[in-house]
Amino acid sequence: VVSRDVVIEIDDETITAVTIGAAPPSDARRLGGLVIPGLANVHSHAFHRALRGRTEAGSGDFWSWREQMYATAATLDPDSYHRLARATYAEMTLAGITTVGEFHYLHHRPDGSPYEDPNVMSDALVAAAGDAGMRITLIDTCYLRGGPDGRPLEGTQRRFGDGSAERWAARASRLRDAPHLRRAAGIHSVRAVDPASMETVAAWAAEHDAPLHVHVSEQPQENADCLAATGRTPTLLLADHGVLGERTTAVHATHMDDDDIAAMGGSRTTVCLCPTTERSLADGVGPAGHLRRAGSPLCVGSDSHAMIDLFEEARAVELNERLVTGRRGVHRPEHLLEAMTSQGMAALGWTAGRIAVGSRADLVAIDLDSPRLAGAHPDDLAAHAVFAATASDVTDVIIDGRSIVEDRKHLLVGDVGAALAASMEETA
Ligand SMILES: [Zn+2]
Repeated sequence: VVSRDVVIEIDDETITAVTIGAAPPSDARRLGGLVIPGLANVHSHAFHRALRGRTEAGSGDFWSWREQMYATAATLDPDSYHRLARATYAEMTLAGITTVGEFHYLHHRPDGSPYEDPNVMSDALVAAAGDAGMRITLIDTCYLRGGPDGRPLEGTQRRFGDGSAERWAARASRLRDAPHLRRAAGIHSVRAVDPASMETVAAWAAEHDAPLHVHVSEQPQENADCLAATGRTPTLLLADHGVLGERTTAVHATHMDDDDIAAMGGSRTTVCLCPTTERSLADGVGPAGHLRRAGSPLCVGSDSHAMIDLFEEARAVELNERLVTGRRGVHRPEHLLEAMTSQGMAALGWTAGRIAVGSRADLVAIDLDSPRLAGAHPDDLAAHAVFAATASDVTDVIIDGRSIVEDRKHLLVGDVGAALAASMEETA
């Protein structure tokens, strides 16, 4: 529902009252345009930001892209990763994103040995989010092997591994707390984690009441390798080992058969779609409409950061489906807005993403006078915003009651473009 003249009262970081049509108090701050809840970027690999543009020329597939991605991963240390993530997260906040889910597996030194402080890379990401003024769900990701045949980690992959799920759990449990941090568990994929270890990670998530995220069926090869090794699809293997369920988010879920969709939806597992990445990497188009109707809440992520624009992610969920099915309106604009906001926040473990009492006080103002949105009909504002707004139409962002972006300026980081450029120079 879109309303005019809404007064939103906040106490510290939480919304305490929402009144429509009331006169604002004299000390109120006025937000113009269309104001929506804060956006949740449910799936991020911050270091992939350094690959933007550098992997788009030339040919290849997901696997050749992955070699380029590993080369970038090899260059980072805690300080350079902090600077890169800070700039990347600042780009996110300018785009209206108030919470990021960082799917983090770049844990150790290039030779695989732990840093003196084994969580120093995680701490760099948590600090970077704080510097950018946003919340972070640090999805500490277990990554143990090079493939479902059990081959060991090689080359850059050695940075990702803890050796065993028990050692992963011990390290993840020691992550220092922070007010803007939620801890979560990640299973990199059925490629990278064996079934017994999956159960250990899922048990850790249950014990810590933490979200659990996992990459699922991004590529046909992943399905074929999993079937060859286990006789099960990735989704059904995860179901067999207690990984699916309401605390779990499956990322991508692109190559799914009917049984996979029924298992995903029936367990109320959330599905995170990353359409700008999935198209950049030639992954395919997932069955988002079938998954939603089967019972899976949907959310979105910018994943590889080929671009950072959740409006584009959300509308691509519907527009890709139109191309595949020949039908329009599988996902209504309000479904797409929920995917960008409340359902994404829930997947990251936050009570946020609504302009409602009890929700975190995150507000994003969108410029209705921009060339893309000017002249929008009052009855169609939400649809117009979802289908035509871009990240650059975001003018003001409030996170936990604190003004982070005003008039398209980042109040904490300042010149975000310069911060990104400096960081790219370091990782080139
Ligand atoms: Zn990913």
